[in-house]
Amino acid sequence: MGRQKTSSSNCNGLPEMATRLRVGGEEEEGVDVVMEARTESSNLEDLQEDASLVGSDKTSADYYFDSYSHFGIHEEMLKDVVRTRTYQNAIYHNSFLFKDKVVLDVGAGTGILSLFCAKAGAKHVYAIECSQMADMAKEIVQTNGFSSVITVLKGKVEDIELPVTHVDVIISEWMGYFLLFENMLNTVLYARDKWLVNDGIVLPDKASLYLTAIEDAEYKEDKIEFWNDVYGFDMGCIKKQALIEPLVDTVDQKQIVTNCQLLKMMDISKMDPGDASFTAPFKLVAERKDYIHAFVAYFDVSFTRCHKLMGFSTGPRSKTTHWKQTVLYLEEVLSICEGEALTGSMTVEQNKKNPRDVDIMLKYSLNGQHCQVSRTQYYKMR
Ligand code: SAH
Repeated sequence: MGRQKTSSSNCNGLPEMATRLRVGGEEEEGVDVVMEARTESSNLEDLQEDASLVGSDKTSADYYFDSYSHFGIHEEMLKDVVRTRTYQNAIYHNSFLFKDKVVLDVGAGTGILSLFCAKAGAKHVYAIECSQMADMAKEIVQTNGFSSVITVLKGKVEDIELPVTHVDVIISEWMGYFLLFENMLNTVLYARDKWLVNDGIVLPDKASLYLTAIEDAEYKEDKIEFWNDVYGFDMGCIKKQALIEPLVDTVDQKQIVTNCQLLKMMDISKMDPGDASFTAPFKLVAERKDYIHAFVAYFDVSFTRCHKLMGFSTGPRSKTTHWKQTVLYLEEVLSICEGEALTGSMTVEQNKKNPRDVDIMLKYSLNGQHCQVSRTQYYKMR
């Protein structure tokens, strides 16, 4: 998943259509907005004529709280070939894991992973999906002739009664921005503890979060310092908010100044839900003399139960995925010399009020030739 995703630079749960109007990202706003408005008005006439069309009774308010009901998010995920092909290859090239097995697809969306598993020889696949997309998944399963193998169940994993007591395999694409945004991991762990047989497998089964530090003068100027002088007015209060919200965006690998450090590895087949909240120390050593404007977090996932280790990374040195990277800007620019170390710790916790949001605390210090600093910064993924 990529979760309540946007194709642009934030992560606050609006469906793609709405965010395109609000934020720039890589889209050409002006052109897009005009074109979308035009297509929508012409489509409207058709919809009014046939009110029975699926989705015609939905307004943007419905999508605001349930953007997975809209096909746009699924289109973005399916078109992320790094993501979807890795799942497809892991399943097709390892049919021994699926042959005659009962599979549970946690958060099935369009049903794509269930279809892969059915094709790989699964005895039966239960596909649970809570959004309206479940209706489409049912139709897709039928259209493709898999109705006898795949059962789509519409509802929350936490509320569903499965027709079987146990499953052999759990497959899910639960990863959010910064790995943990949206907290769907808890749903996978819930399903694992409720239905997975003792020697059952979870795919993917490993997820790791990494940290590095980058030079990012240009974009920090555009996204953060911008608020200092907006048409001659000081909007510094917004700058404080902008600093708190990590930015989801692609980072050029040339911007990386330090090594990349593993913060946390999670074994989805064994971990407790509480393990998704943690404090991890880091030591980032500069590989050249440069400025540091931000920390960058990214993750990788792997399918270690396959014949050959399979997986993908969402890091800046790998092919871009729809998760991009997560950029956490520093209040002040640091100046670092080659070999100097930026040390500290990152604390990651579920937000108490909204468990789908993630609170991050970064403590860091640099005791360098040109720069001595020791700070704590707080961020919120929301
Ligand atoms: N498996 C699909 C979709 C992944 S996105 C694919 O790979 O393309 C994750 C999906 O999980 C979304 O469609 C979302 O609606 C669904 N989901 C999230 N939490 C859920 C829950 N608690 N119960 C059921 N479905 C859930």
